[in-house]
Formats: sequence, structure tokens, C-alpha cells
Amino acid sequence: MRRSLFCQNCYMVHAICYMNLVILGPQGSGKGTQAKLLAEKFGLDHFDTGCALRQVAKLDTPLGREVYEIQNVTKTLVPSRILREILHIRLDDLGREQGVVFDGVPRNIDQAGYFEQALGEFGRKIDRVIFVDISKEESLKRIGKRFSCEKCKEAVVLKEDDQNLICLKCSGKLVQRVDDTKEGIEKRLSIFMEETIPVIEYFENKKLVSRIDGSKSPNEVFEDILKIL
Ligand code: AMP
Repeated sequence: MRRSLFCQNCYMVHAICYMNLVILGPQGSGKGTQAKLLAEKFGLDHFDTGCALRQVAKLDTPLGREVYEIQNVTKTLVPSRILREILHIRLDDLGREQGVVFDGVPRNIDQAGYFEQALGEFGRKIDRVIFVDISKEESLKRIGKRFSCEKCKEAVVLKEDDQNLICLKCSGKLVQRVDDTKEGIEKRLSIFMEETIPVIEYFENKKLVSRIDGSKSPNEVFEDILKIL
């Protein structure tokens, strides 16, 4: 089906509405929040690999149990064969002209290769890679306080003295992710440094990367992203 020429949100025609954006950043950088804001503003599909894999992990099947174990026990990256599969299913589901913000993929050099190839097979190419950068200290600090609402799924970073685990949007209960333990965060951050930073360097060589300072407020970060698109 051919997509309307007009943005579903503001009825203007934006080049961004048709783009394939990749957003990468360490845990707690706010890349998920920024991906969501971009998706809402420009009618992009938000493909959050961590979230897609958490859905798979809920299945009571051999695959579901394997993904659950990787995400919550070993806290490593899922193997390429699984990621390749969910990537193909998602790309196959999308209309040709539907812009996408890919959140959290590719995370290593192997993935970068087949990600570009898969996009090519579906007539797509990466238009921009947004790297939301924060320090390791900031990442650890934020994730320790990262909660999300069980009901509406809103992501919340609690303030220093905040004891109230109730969602301000819908009054649902705020919970932490199972893999957000101190040891889990350390492990995922070291994977980011060792495996994902080389991906950013790979795309930097292709002049595709815009580095954004993720230490600012979510709105300021979003403004900075809009400036480079
Ligand atoms: P995230 O929600 O981005 O923190 O991802 C949570 C977990 O999902 C990671 O620790 C990995 O186990 C898995 N995951 C997410 N994205 C990928 C990916 N691109 N490749 C492999 N594993 C992934």
C-alpha cells in the first residue's frame, strides 16, 4: 500500500517521515525516549530490538526460553540467527515507504553487515545514525533510577529523593527491568564499549554519524536531534 505523501501528524511533507534512522547509545542514554519522540513526531515505525526480544522472551517455547535466559541471566547479546529473523519479519511487515527508527541495532560489526544487507533487500538504506552519548558514570546513575510503568509503559528516571513508585501519567505501578541490576548494567555497558563503539566508528567512516550530547534534558536532546536531521 502506498503511504500518504503527508505526515500523519502535522500534514506537512517531511523528508524525515521516509527516513531510515538508527539510534545508538549506552544504557540510560535516553535513546529509547528519543526514538519514541521521533516516531511520534514523524509517524516513523519504532523498531526497538530490546523490546521486541522481551516480547519473544515471554513465550513459553524453546526460543522464548532461550531469549529470556540471554536477556536476564547471561545478559549478553542474542545470537545473530535470532536477530536476523526478527529484523526480516519486521521489515517484511512494513510498507515500502514507511520510515523507521531502528533503536538498538546494529550492536556489533557482524550485525552491521547483515543489517545493511537486509535493508538493501527491502529497498532501504541508512539515512543517519544518531549516537546519543553519555559517560559511564551518568549511565550507571540513570539506570539505577530507571523505572517504567507496568500499565502504560512510560519510562521514568526517578529523582534523587523520589520514593513514590507510582506513574504520574496513569497511576500504574513503577517497576525496574529484571536485567537492570548493577552487575547487569556493568556487563551491558562493557558490551557497548567493546562491540557497539566499533559499529559507530564503522558508520563514522561512512559519514553517517551525528553525535548528540545525551547529558542534557530529554527535550534539549530532542531539539539537538531535530537540528541535525
Ligand atoms: P535493551 O532494551 O536495548 O537494553 O536490550 C536488552 C537486551 O536485549 C540486551 O541486553 C540483549 O540481550 C538484547 N538485545 C537488544 N538488542 C539487541 C541486538 N541488536 N542484538 C542482540 N541482542 C540484543
